[in-house]
Amino acid sequence: MSPEARLRVGGIIDMSTVDWYGNVSLIVFCAGCNYRCPYCQNSGLIPLDSGREIDLDLLRERFEANKFINDTVVFTGGEPALQPEGVIEAAKLAKSHGLMVMLDSNGSVKENIDRILRSGFIDRVALDVKAPINPTDYGRVTGRPDLGETSVEAVLHCLDLSKELGIEMEVRTTVAPGVSDDPAFIRSIAESIKGRCDVFYLQQFDNLGEVLSQTLKQEKPPTRDAMTSLARVALRTGLRNVFIKTRSNGLERMG
Ligand code: SF4
Repeated sequence: MSPEARLRVGGIIDMSTVDWYGNVSLIVFCAGCNYRCPYCQNSGLIPLDSGREIDLDLLRERFEANKFINDTVVFTGGEPALQPEGVIEAAKLAKSHGLMVMLDSNGSVKENIDRILRSGFIDRVALDVKAPINPTDYGRVTGRPDLGETSVEAVLHCLDLSKELGIEMEVRTTVAPGVSDDPAFIRSIAESIKGRCDVFYLQQFDNLGEVLSQTLKQEKPPTRDAMTSLARVALRTGLRNVFIKTRSNGLERMG
């Protein structure tokens, strides 16, 4: 491990069973994000100077303390790929402790994603595909119209590189009222990711937590029925392994 390897984090959770289903994960919340998604529930982690910088020895201690509990580690955020050196070193450390590693990313920085995936320390990517893969929709949903073009290029690269490298690909789309709940919106995403992912999770927006948009904070989450209907829209494109994730029922397979 590089002696100066450090990572800016907003928090660490020792045990989660819902971030990587079927596994018990240690979750590392990396601080800082380049997007401004209105439904973001971790908006306190958006500023690049949020959280605190930790020495990776701290992570080593957590891996050792939890060695009989965790089988996986998840790097999430914020946006972990904004810190490629720290994430690669931390992932390498996790692998040396026998842990499988998932990168939960918005996939927006092509060069960084490329470096992290090619490091050989990533077993699974949970990629937020936030909108139909075109610059206009991407710019709108992420609150960063200026990044629309580069985001689209980067997300497609992440999908294709993961496939090329044999890394498991879990695509996630958050369904939020008035933002990402239109059937044509979901259909377009499903058509773009078909053949490029192992599973597709439609995640219910939740108004709990530090929601970025105060307007959305007042909105109710989409109903389970609405989520089910959108899953059917995705399935009609021929996409398989479609799931919905709701507060009431957790993860449910739709087909
Ligand atoms: S939801 Fe959007 S703004 Fe929030 S951390 Fe994820 S990518 Fe960043």
